[in-house]
Amino acid sequence: NKLEAPVSRKHPRQLYMLFFAEMWERFSFYGMKALLLAYMVTQLKFDEPKGYAILGSYAALVYTMPMFGGMMADRFLGYRRSVLFGGILMSIGHLVLAIPEDWSFFYGMAFIICGNGFFKPNISSLVGTLYSNNDPRKDSAFSLFYMGINIGAALGGILCGYVGERINWHYGFGLAGIFMILGLIVFAIGKKSLLEKGLPPDEAYLKKPRFAFVTTEHIIYAATLLVIPVIVLLFHQYEVMDYLMFGLGLAAISYILFVAFQLERGAKFKLLAALVMIVSSTLFWAFYEQNAGSLNLFAMRNVDMHFFGFDLPALSVNNFLPPGWVILLSLVFAWLWPWLSKRGKEPSTPLKFALSFILMGVGFLVFYLACSISKSNGLIPLWAFVAGYFFVICGELCISPIGLSMVTKLAPAKIVALMMGIWFFASAIGEFMAGKIGSLMSVPENVVNDPVQSLPYYANILNKIGLGSIGIGVLLICLVPVIRRWMKDVK
Ligand code: GLN
Repeated sequence: NKLEAPVSRKHPRQLYMLFFAEMWERFSFYGMKALLLAYMVTQLKFDEPKGYAILGSYAALVYTMPMFGGMMADRFLGYRRSVLFGGILMSIGHLVLAIPEDWSFFYGMAFIICGNGFFKPNISSLVGTLYSNNDPRKDSAFSLFYMGINIGAALGGILCGYVGERINWHYGFGLAGIFMILGLIVFAIGKKSLLEKGLPPDEAYLKKPRFAFVTTEHIIYAATLLVIPVIVLLFHQYEVMDYLMFGLGLAAISYILFVAFQLERGAKFKLLAALVMIVSSTLFWAFYEQNAGSLNLFAMRNVDMHFFGFDLPALSVNNFLPPGWVILLSLVFAWLWPWLSKRGKEPSTPLKFALSFILMGVGFLVFYLACSISKSNGLIPLWAFVAGYFFVICGELCISPIGLSMVTKLAPAKIVALMMGIWFFASAIGEFMAGKIGSLMSVPENVVNDPVQSLPYYANILNKIGLGSIGIGVLLICLVPVIRRWMKDVK
């Protein structure tokens, strides 16, 4: 209907408020992550395997906490209060990181981890509350939101990367903090416009004193603050993380199987299909997240950053490229999927998952081949670095946004929020494995300044990641018919 179309396509203004709040939050999140490993290795003088282990633990915990933050929001706090609380913790964390003292490092990260658990899943859920489930604008709202995430990530990567690497590491962390506070202010002022959306499920229960003047709400906040020193302890004893992640992973899989076997046949197989895809996504992130780890150091040591007379800052380049490609390529994919769909040729969700591995594998092989032709000076050309990321990000766009909507379609309605938490938790396992893979690329202290000698340490593993990823993709292609059968009517 021509008359109604423009009205019904317009997004509610609250979406733009959430878009900007999340955009600035991701600015700070990725701005800080861009600096993390290089800061540990070059400033704190951690040996490389330790740097990778701490990075992996940090990122793993960052993506584990949304399971708890999501649960707390669903049961008690509601989305709005959770986002506000999470935003405050994250702001504190970023500011603590900016303090140039040794103790501040682990505490800053611990605050960010807890804050992210409350912020990240719940701001996405708030976007969902703006639309009914069958509203055709819902998908496009999430695409726009994903764009906001990546605009923030691109700007944060460039600016914090530059300031941290070239001017002062703590200014870089501080800059991230300023933008987190900006995101928090956008949300604090804008949240009134959400009216009744995202309020606590039972305000009276939340506000009722349990003892003296202490309410359930206070208890949740206090319990979260108590988690912070525990996380700091985990960083000091990071070997424990192996057991923690293994245990939590096993628990998550057992939980999904337990739920699945209580469901009727159709729903059971849908959930099993989701499980297979969620488990495979852990491997995707394990390879992909080399971006925030080994590829940062690779960019500093082994990529020729000269560009028309400029000497580009390596951390900025490496952290700008993925979100930069996402922004550009999302536009292409937004056109490509419907175009294929009209011709009846749109790949099914499991096929897209398989393709994501193959594309990412090709990207890593581009990095590897560039290493092989750069043996004489040890520096790969910038264009090859850019081209490799092109394929990696085509892979990301076949799995990351697709996975979000896959979860909402295949999970039984009652546990969608929790399953979303588990989807992010798959990233946590992936990030943790990424740290382990990254440490295989540790370069010995005495050759870090010699590109010719450091190059093979990367090339040998980049090669294996590329081939491994393509292998997994091929394996998944073989599984596609089975998974599709399990998915029934869902594409
Ligand atoms: N880059 C996306 C984000 O920050 C997805 C991250 C993930 O799921 N690991 O939201």
